[in-house]
Amino acid sequence: RKMKVHNFNAGPSVLPNEVLYKASKALIDFDGTGMSILEIGHRTPYFMAVMDEARSLARELMQLDDDFEVMFLHGGASTQFMQVPMNLLDSGETAAIIDTGVWSSKAIKETKNFGFVDVIASSKDANYTYIPKNYTIPPQAKYLHLTSNNTIYGTQYHSFPQTDVPVVVDMSSDILSRQLDYNQFSLIYAGVQKNMGAAGATMVAVRKSMLGKVSRKIPTILDYNQHIENGSMLNTPPVFAIYISMLTLRWLKGQGGLAGIEKLNEKKAALLYDEIDHNPLFRGTVAKEDRSLMNVCFIMDKPELEEEFVKFCKKEDIVGIKGHRLSGGFRASLYNALPMESVEVMVEAMKYFSLKKV
Ligand code: PMP
Repeated sequence: RKMKVHNFNAGPSVLPNEVLYKASKALIDFDGTGMSILEIGHRTPYFMAVMDEARSLARELMQLDDDFEVMFLHGGASTQFMQVPMNLLDSGETAAIIDTGVWSSKAIKETKNFGFVDVIASSKDANYTYIPKNYTIPPQAKYLHLTSNNTIYGTQYHSFPQTDVPVVVDMSSDILSRQLDYNQFSLIYAGVQKNMGAAGATMVAVRKSMLGKVSRKIPTILDYNQHIENGSMLNTPPVFAIYISMLTLRWLKGQGGLAGIEKLNEKKAALLYDEIDHNPLFRGTVAKEDRSLMNVCFIMDKPELEEEFVKFCKKEDIVGIKGHRLSGGFRASLYNALPMESVEVMVEAMKYFSLKKV
């Protein structure tokens, strides 16, 4: 591994070096068992300990109360777009959803297969460059679904609606990146491949009190209650992805937990946004108050220079900054494991490139 690549990928994305070292060793010999982590049964005490630690670290870091159950499942966050309404929304009931881009739109589409959807707010009118603020949450809604961080556009909720309606949140791209009252939510889901591990596992934390209330028959493998009863071992779990996630959660705890990582994430984002706001060549694309600390999206006033800038960055070992095809320009993802040093190098590159061009 080239140690000096600055990896701004949007996901899968940078992981802590110590996680990668430990995992490479475990690929050959897992904790002195003489077997690879890929060669042991998932029901052995060895792997059960990994699963238990992953679940309890996730619970501990979010400080979830006792009503919550934490699961590690297959299928990515995309499976949750349908598994959530299948488990929570009866046909005839309504889910309120806030549309903040591609990922919310997918949640909306899948939810319609199970019940009614009320899209109570949308920022589509401005290509999703802000978080909607003025809306009413219908009190009869079964739940409100929102996407806490919008990976493609670089917007993020910095405060959440206070409501008696249970809130379901897709936290795929900012899970465990900041201190929050996680207990204000009723269901939290996230693909783990950005902030808390490697692709292949999805974390779902749900309040037990939300379950068992729909009349439809839920296929066993999609039934949260079944997964909970079986300790996320209803079938063979994605063992390696869960192992990486457990190591990443351990690392996160070692960083001072969410208080520690939040400080670092705030510093990283402040440094980069400050450069975007002061460098004449670059411009941020989203409403300032809704800027994401995870995905920093920006463009150039001279788009003809974009390609050259990407090439220049590549020479400086800066990778993964090209924007999503839907929003263009640049996107630098500053997930938990991205070191401060990478942002410093990025900012230097922006300054230097701009000196040459302006
Ligand atoms: N929601 C958000 C906010 C995302 O960023 C992504 C993936 N980029 C998804 C959902 C889909 O996740 P997955 O690929 O794990 O299905």
